[in-house]
Amino acid sequence: MSLAGEYDGANIFAKILRGEMPCVKIYEDEHVLAFMDIFPQSQGHCLVIPKDTTARNLIEFPANRLGLLFAAVQKLSKAVVKALNCDGVIVTQFNGAPAGQTVFHLHVHVIPRYANLPLQPHHGGKPADMAVLRDQAARIAAAL
Ligand code: AMP
Repeated sequence: MSLAGEYDGANIFAKILRGEMPCVKIYEDEHVLAFMDIFPQSQGHCLVIPKDTTARNLIEFPANRLGLLFAAVQKLSKAVVKALNCDGVIVTQFNGAPAGQTVFHLHVHVIPRYANLPLQPHHGGKPADMAVLRDQAARIAAAL
């Protein structure tokens, strides 16, 4: 899907927000939901998505809501570092299929990095063990 187009309310993250699909939740407030990525690029890879939006990407998102979204991203990043004792954190997001985006509801990746451990590919990685994801989510949530 290119940058131009309509928001599809059947996308996976919209379904998660409506409670139609499960997720391994870390944190939720009136503005955002944070949950574990089920194809993690590293141990503890999580996602932050804004609620109540039809923005498919950063370009479509209202500038006056960026502060709350990125405050949540920072909060989660701090908790990830504290909970998982990682050595670095990548904060990233992709806009449009040619840029690597696969789910067309705006989202921000928080990806812990560990010294000397390789990063898994952005796509084509292995699905995570749900018990491991639940454990990581609980540890990150406790560090918020
Ligand atoms: P992107 O490729 O930047 O659009 O990111 C989409 C991300 O969502 C990828 O990292 C996927 O692994 C992840 N993902 C896809 N489906 C789910 C799901 N049901 N629950 C959690 N993460 C998902």
